[in-house]
Amino acid sequence: MIIILEPKADRGRVEAELKALGLWTSRFESHHGGAEVLLVEPHSMAVDPGRIIAVEGVADVQVPTSSHPRLDARKGEPILFGDLAVGPGEAPVLMAGPCSIESREQIHEAAALVARAGGHFLRGGAFKPRTSPYSFQGHGRVALGWIREAADAHGLRVVTEVMSETEVEAVAAVADLVQIGSRNMQNYALLHAVGSAGKPVLLKRGMAASVDEWLLAAEHLLAAGAAGVVLCERGIQGADPATRNLLDLGAVALVRHQYGLPVVVDPSHATGRRDLVLPLGRAGLAAGAAGLLIEAHPNAAEARSDGPQALSPAELVALGETCFPAASPPRPSRARRPPEGAAPAQEAR
Ligand code: PEP
Ligand code: MN
Repeated sequence: MIIILEPKADRGRVEAELKALGLWTSRFESHHGGAEVLLVEPHSMAVDPGRIIAVEGVADVQVPTSSHPRLDARKGEPILFGDLAVGPGEAPVLMAGPCSIESREQIHEAAALVARAGGHFLRGGAFKPRTSPYSFQGHGRVALGWIREAADAHGLRVVTEVMSETEVEAVAAVADLVQIGSRNMQNYALLHAVGSAGKPVLLKRGMAASVDEWLLAAEHLLAAGAAGVVLCERGIQGADPATRNLLDLGAVALVRHQYGLPVVVDPSHATGRRDLVLPLGRAGLAAGAAGLLIEAHPNAAEARSDGPQALSPAELVALGETCFPAASPPRPSRARRPPEGAAPAQEAR
């Protein structure tokens, strides 16, 4: 339940009176014409709305139709990154780059490539969640500086993952969009720490999470203070290992068309193979995605993580031309190379 206050209401007094009725409230930013709005916390008593309206300073009481009031309040609104708007009704954006930031040179090369493909965000992990402790774990903090520098050199924004509460400050200082990986979608302490940093967040769907759990995780971020949440569908666990995961395009259409929220599609982690990235990326945009998150590598054969799904430079440029024609700079020759040999689906890292 939300309680809308009168324009000149004394919030402290209203809250004290509500508490006396057994209602615990928290302040809830809203778009009700600038009026202050209080959110009734779930552990409050059941109180007749008539008694609440009678409290001096209360203008209205509304029972939200869903369990995610903060997302509802943002329905249809894009998230702004300076002059770039991401979300419903906006031109789709391309976020691309390698799985891992492997060296300063590699991420600079990748940034040049992403800019050439008409990309808007440079991706790359400094902290990598790897299934095996013996796989490359990322270079950590030093790589954050490299990705920021590379993105700035090419007019790109940065999206990069944070894995632990202790790294939130460092990641939020360089990232325009702070990524929460699928393995951490329900790590509520991390969600709280990242939300408190006040930046926009890219929230990847957990591989076994329902849409509602995913939206509630976004609600955690917003409740903690995140400037906005871009949801990311990256495939869920399916019955068939023929592709790495099962890209849930129904969820993308639902989140975009029913909830009016910004959702991007990651066909790279969804499929685990580069030859399926373009077709599923196109399908994601057709379903209503606000953009694509794509893994690409200047030299995929040498990639230290997720090589089989990384697009080659030519493939990324071709994807840019196909899916983001407005952003992609014209090239003298539009000849396309056939996709490189299909790589086998890879087990989750
Ligand atoms: C990533 O995008 O680098 C990543 C690890 O993805 P996910 O969390 O979707 O597995
Ligand atoms: Mn990856």
